[in-house]
Amino acid sequence: MLTLSTRIWTSFITVLTVGLVMSYVITQSGNMVNHTTQNLVMVQLPRLALIKRLRASLTEHERLLYEYYTTTNRDLVWPKIMAREKEFNHYLANISDSFAGKVMSLPKLYGEIKLLRDSLDKNLGGTQVDWDQARFDLANLTLTGQSTENILIALTDTIQKEAWQGAESTQEQISNIFYLVISFTVFIILAAMLVGYYTQVNIKKTAKRRALAKFPERNPNPIINLNWQGEILFSNPACRQLLTNIGADSDNIENILPPGFFNNLKKWQQEHQSQMNFDALIGDRHIHYSLSLLPDLGSCHLYMEDVTAREKAQAQLKYQALHDVHTGLPNRRQFEDIINQKIGENDSFSVLFIDIDRFKLITSSQGYHIGDLTIKYMGERLQQLCGNLQKHVQTFRLEASTFCIIINALDQAISLEVAQAIQKSMDEPLCVKDHRYYLNLSMGICHYPQDANDARSLITHGNAALNHAQRQGDSCEVYDDKLHSAQQNWLPIESGMRMALEKQQFALHYQAKVDAQTTNIKGAEALIRWQADDGTLISPGVFIPVAEQTGLIIQIGQWVIEEGFRQAKRFSDQKQDIQLAINISARQFQHRHFLQQLQIALEQTQADPSKIELEITESLIMENADHSISIMKKLKDMGFALAIDDFGTGYSSLSYLKQFPIDSLKVDQAFVKHLENDEDDKGIVSAIVSLAQHLHLKTIAEGVETPGQWHFLKELGCDYIQGYLFSKPDVVSRLIKPADGQIPKPM
Ligand code: C2E
Ligand code: CA
Ligand code: CA
Repeated sequence: MLTLSTRIWTSFITVLTVGLVMSYVITQSGNMVNHTTQNLVMVQLPRLALIKRLRASLTEHERLLYEYYTTTNRDLVWPKIMAREKEFNHYLANISDSFAGKVMSLPKLYGEIKLLRDSLDKNLGGTQVDWDQARFDLANLTLTGQSTENILIALTDTIQKEAWQGAESTQEQISNIFYLVISFTVFIILAAMLVGYYTQVNIKKTAKRRALAKFPERNPNPIINLNWQGEILFSNPACRQLLTNIGADSDNIENILPPGFFNNLKKWQQEHQSQMNFDALIGDRHIHYSLSLLPDLGSCHLYMEDVTAREKAQAQLKYQALHDVHTGLPNRRQFEDIINQKIGENDSFSVLFIDIDRFKLITSSQGYHIGDLTIKYMGERLQQLCGNLQKHVQTFRLEASTFCIIINALDQAISLEVAQAIQKSMDEPLCVKDHRYYLNLSMGICHYPQDANDARSLITHGNAALNHAQRQGDSCEVYDDKLHSAQQNWLPIESGMRMALEKQQFALHYQAKVDAQTTNIKGAEALIRWQADDGTLISPGVFIPVAEQTGLIIQIGQWVIEEGFRQAKRFSDQKQDIQLAINISARQFQHRHFLQQLQIALEQTQADPSKIELEITESLIMENADHSISIMKKLKDMGFALAIDDFGTGYSSLSYLKQFPIDSLKVDQAFVKHLENDEDDKGIVSAIVSLAQHLHLKTIAEGVETPGQWHFLKELGCDYIQGYLFSKPDVVSRLIKPADGQIPKPM
């Protein structure tokens, strides 16, 4: 394949050669035309003129001889004849010269004419003229003249023929020149077009080459070209720019190379490597190098890229992927990675799942911002605590309000120590903006390898323990097989409950609410019981959460309402002044037909709503306080009494509490439990009772088991007492006629 410039040169040389050949041919043709024209002008035309004059001279000579014959006046005619003859001779001599002996017959004829003329002269000049002879001579003269004339005509024809041939050849040459010039012109145009095309292509290619040449120059990434010995032959401006950026000497391009580059280059050359990629830190910049070794060119190309920003972004992304945004703690993904790694290494460790009880209430009552801050401070507290423990522990935030701690220890007791330390740390309130939160934590502990073989079951079991603890509230649960079976029992519970509804295996037991001062029964709480096929009683603590989860609570709750209302009606009919408390679960309360169902139940049972108190947990109300208030108002309008159950655990703000259209507060049993010994609980319960009094609400303390608790509550001014001390939940017959000694008399 010919290169572009070779093509241009070839075209140029071809045009030149053809041009020279054409010029030669045209010159030759011109010369020929010139020669022919010259021959015509210089030779043929004078010859024709000579012949013409000779013929005229001959004719005149002949006429003069006839005149001489007629007049015989020699003196008059003869000098004219001689003059003609002289002229005649001159022309003849010229013709002989001109035709170079080709007309030998002419002098001969001239000789004959002369002889005949002399004979005529002798006869006419003589004394005795022989007229016959004279006429004979004249006749011969005419004949000879005619012969001469014929020769001259033939000569004229020859000259004319030659002239025509010359003209034809000239015409031919001229038309040849014409065609040659036209063809050459066409050829030149084509050649010019070809050369023009090649030139244009060449210009484009040159421009492209120039642009390509600019490529390394203008490349924003540093590029270096080295020879095989490692000598730097070329470096683009970006190299100097990078060196300037990092504050290094920009004239010494070697500064941009990673440490030990030249030794490595030799090694790679010996190993016949063709491409090497490596990273290095130059100043504070992270540089990625890509080296191409080109032995055939005897050079090396080194491409560099400043990947500092990218590396930072990647590190940031990695950090974000593995850390929680709010707390900065490692997240669930990292947690799973670490436990998988530990399991792979067969390490012994414990996981401690931690959840803030009723955290949702903080966000629903105070907003997400406070919720996020709470999580943040909680994370800080856990991390600080874990740092102080001097145990090998690591804290994670898994989701919402759930944290997790991995405890690397063979001794399982250590996990309990950590849990206790965490619980204790929560005695201090968490200060979030203007709020001081006393948070309760539920914790679930699971050990590897004792409780699980893999990460998944470890997490499931840990969560199961946590769920269990959450149901108790503010407690810590260590996973064991029983818990496992409890989890496994979920399904049978669900299908069992459906059967129980059909088979009417549910019953309501009643627990008395007594006047704290007089211990007279003032009310009762209806508590559901499930008697299974085998006669065992299943606690609502087991099946109510499952019913909540599966939605069966709607049907079960409906049954409780109907049965409870019927019982309330019976109490009224029996003139028993007992207000019946009925527990309402979250899902029931939020159900769109809840009010309608209550209305229907009232109509069907004809119960008096004022004799029915609906117990709604504080946490439920606070999930969506405004909506809850509107429903509670409607319930009040229907005539029901309302109580807040498990009060003290749901973070009700005072402003909300004032708006709740309620009649009483039920102090959560968790505060009552340690009332005798725990100063904090004493303070909390006192505060709740005085708060209720200020808001003109009745207080009910539940879970009262000891006389000490009762006395304390009585002293405080708590209105009603509910607990095993007075009454265990039982069938209705035993509520009205309690067994002997079950309800102690006031002391
Ligand atoms: P709750 O509403 O807080 O009910 C009080 C629980 O404390 C009852 O447990 C009761 O038996 C128990 N209790 C009463 N006095 C004492 C005591 O002196 N000491 C101790 N340790 N416990 C005492 P129970 O009946 O097992 O019910 C547990 C929970 O199940 C109830 O807590 C309530 O939230 C739910 N529940 C019970 N019945 C129903 C129902 O009909 N509907 C709905 N939605 N939930 C129900
Ligand atoms: Ca209750
Ligand atoms: Ca309660």
